[in-house]
Amino acid sequence: MSKPSTNANKPAGQAKPDNAPASNFLRHIVEADLAKGTNATRTWSGKPGPANTHLGEPDDPAKIRTRFPPEPNGYLHFGHAKSICLNFGLARDYGGVCHMRFDDTNPEKEEQEYVDAILDSVKWLGFDWKAFGAEHLYFASDYFDVMYAAAEYLILTANAYVDSLSADQMRTMRGTLTEPGKDSPYRERSVAENLALFQGMRDGKFAEGEHILRAKIDMASPNINLRDPAIYRIRKATHHRTGDKWCIYPMYTFAHPIEDGLENITHSICTLEFEDQRPFYDWLLERLAEGGLIQRPVPRQYEFARLNLTYVVLSKRKLIELVTDKHVEGWDDPRMPTLVGARRRGYTPEGFRMFAERVGVAKSHSWIDYATLEECMREDLNERAPRRIAVLDPLKLIIDNYPEGQEEECHPPNHPQKPDWGKRGVPFSRELWIEREDFEEVPPPKYFRLYPPGVTPAGDTSPGNKVRLKYGFVVECTGCDKDADGRVIAVHCNYFPDSKSGTPGADTYKVKGTIHWVSAKHAYTAEVRLYDRLFKVPNPGAGDRDFILDINTESMKIVTAQLEPALREAKAGEHFQFERHGYFVPDRFDPVSGEPEFNRAVTMKDAWQK
Ligand code: ATP
Ligand code: MG
Repeated sequence: MSKPSTNANKPAGQAKPDNAPASNFLRHIVEADLAKGTNATRTWSGKPGPANTHLGEPDDPAKIRTRFPPEPNGYLHFGHAKSICLNFGLARDYGGVCHMRFDDTNPEKEEQEYVDAILDSVKWLGFDWKAFGAEHLYFASDYFDVMYAAAEYLILTANAYVDSLSADQMRTMRGTLTEPGKDSPYRERSVAENLALFQGMRDGKFAEGEHILRAKIDMASPNINLRDPAIYRIRKATHHRTGDKWCIYPMYTFAHPIEDGLENITHSICTLEFEDQRPFYDWLLERLAEGGLIQRPVPRQYEFARLNLTYVVLSKRKLIELVTDKHVEGWDDPRMPTLVGARRRGYTPEGFRMFAERVGVAKSHSWIDYATLEECMREDLNERAPRRIAVLDPLKLIIDNYPEGQEEECHPPNHPQKPDWGKRGVPFSRELWIEREDFEEVPPPKYFRLYPPGVTPAGDTSPGNKVRLKYGFVVECTGCDKDADGRVIAVHCNYFPDSKSGTPGADTYKVKGTIHWVSAKHAYTAEVRLYDRLFKVPNPGAGDRDFILDINTESMKIVTAQLEPALREAKAGEHFQFERHGYFVPDRFDPVSGEPEFNRAVTMKDAWQK
């Protein structure tokens, strides 16, 4: 299992090609805990609960418990994918379970729509929360009663008090990084008074902001997070699950450790911004363990560097802005760095898992180049995508010496490295579609594709160029037709009947260029969307700049393509390599005919590296 650790900054090309998990500091911590039996004494009643519910129950069957705790206030983005792969991956690899937990303690902005989409995306990435015969899908809002009891316990033990300062006063009295804070005049309220006020808060007797419950720790602590942090506030809002039962809600920093504690989480993994919160996390769980509310050993928090990816934004606030201000077509716009967008774009779960392994887990911030993600998708798609032929910028090619009305089949392989995937028949006829760029009336130097007969700079006449129509015949260009504006509308050629690929003697024709084609009569004409990066700079919104100004206004190009006929039947979830063009997925099926349009997931090679 032990492997040298991957360096987050290592370019994709140098990373290990295998999919074995690379070791990292979190794996070391888990392995050390397992070796020491740190969590071996815990028991588990079968569902989350305070210490007394687990007492006398069997040993926890899970060797470790991690959790993925999104707030259901938006769709999951690529950063979440890293956290999902990490938490579910650790549980899978060490005989544990990863809890799927909605951190829905904030009544505003949370919706069922997001809950459903998040569950869907986690499953799509290839993970589930079933283990040891049970589903481990939890909602923090189910713990409100316990959280309330924990708050009362803190009041009773003189570890919390109700403060009645205004938010502004509290802010000024909190002090700064260099100056200690000042005690609130309400800090020495009696236990009885605090309890009565807190119960009054719960019973709706006060307005929002009138009182707040604070932990009583140390206003002079060098860590500002320990200067009597707020733990419960009044919010007269309807919660998406508990309705109007509560008008007070716990603060995230209070709720999260309790959620972890009730669920027997062993390793609570979060991003680096929470490092300064760890002392409060430990303080709170220690108090609650003393009070017999949380089972020992209490969960431990570990921090890792969040994923920063160039050319995208990974913050829900910014993603929401892109959607609500209609810079994109929705959360699942294929250009969005959301998992629902990625799926429509044609990215694969396997590609994301490879990416998560490759970028690794680090303790300090770094930026990952978007090209690393694309390379993972390309590598995965290369393995799984059958090859198809598509002409994205069609120009007619007429084979004048091919009999009118005649048709035959050519037989391209479905995957050049996988002969067992077989070959398929594609129709060939007198008129074909080729790429416009595969013909030049006046060829530039070293151009080996189609060009007509002409006169060389030395004054000699030169014949039209010969190319192989891939999987088909060799043709020689004879000229072209133009419209009134001088635009080429058709290219003419003659073919060599004995040159068909795969027939004896075909390889005696030596040509320097090979081009692809689709029979015009049989082609499936479809809309194809070619996506580019949503932002034109690596760090959108760097400095004080509005990130909206960095949007790439040409991030989507729509073409009417001519596709090999079988693509008419493409089904959702299939992936294809369009030879020379990259990897594509069917998307937006016609409601009547069921025929698809296509999205490009990624080009054949990294066009941005040039
Ligand atoms: P955002 O900053 O986009 O609002 P968030 O952290 O508020 O994200 P949550 O729904 O609270 O979003 O996050 C759920 C989990 O995903 C958290 O444990 C968080 O640490 C993790 N996570 C969020 N963004 C990233 C990221 N960029 N890289 C790694 N993990 C992330
Ligand atoms: Mg958050």
